[in-house]
Amino acid sequence: MNHIQILRADITALSCDAIVNAANQSLLGGGGVDGAIHRAAGPELLRECRTLGGCRTGEAKITKGYRLPAKFVIHTVGPVYSGAPDDAPLLADCYRNSLNLARENGVHTIAFPAISTGVYGYPLREATKVAVDTVRKWLEDNRDYLMDVTFCCFDDRTRGAYEEYEKKLSRQ
Ligand code: ADP
Repeated sequence: MNHIQILRADITALSCDAIVNAANQSLLGGGGVDGAIHRAAGPELLRECRTLGGCRTGEAKITKGYRLPAKFVIHTVGPVYSGAPDDAPLLADCYRNSLNLARENGVHTIAFPAISTGVYGYPLREATKVAVDTVRKWLEDNRDYLMDVTFCCFDDRTRGAYEEYEKKLSRQ
């Protein structure tokens, strides 16, 4: 059965089939979770990323995980929050395109960071709703495929937002 869990953890320590990187359009590394993933994966990751030609907002690209416990890294570029109507669909694209790419590559366990909620400034509660709703919908649409999804929260505030939203959904 497809399954969602919320975990407080450093995503670089997770031994899933794939971890998702909240990258920037260059795919050449940055701060936050992107920097942590590149540090932990080693320089081979950057070498492979250089061959990918960047990534548009909402799209996703896959590499190997190199020195990470995860087999693959799926790099996706979240929107820089602007308050415009296309913020939410672009953020939803990140989750959906990452999951599609994961499935195409035989991934059955995947962990997501809270995309766009750091330097990209997406309000946490709104981003959480987009993340959870999009993943639940994808799991429903892909019932024929086993996929376990972890929302990897780096701090208590993020974990709290996911848990609160899950609780709200379970009361409906
Ligand atoms: P963005 O540019 O998409 O906002 P950030 O990396 O700035 O990306 O932040 C996205 C989220 O990733 C934030 O919730 C941040 O706390 C979290 N984060 C930072 N480092 C890690 C890590 N090692 N593991 C998991 N999440 C992390």
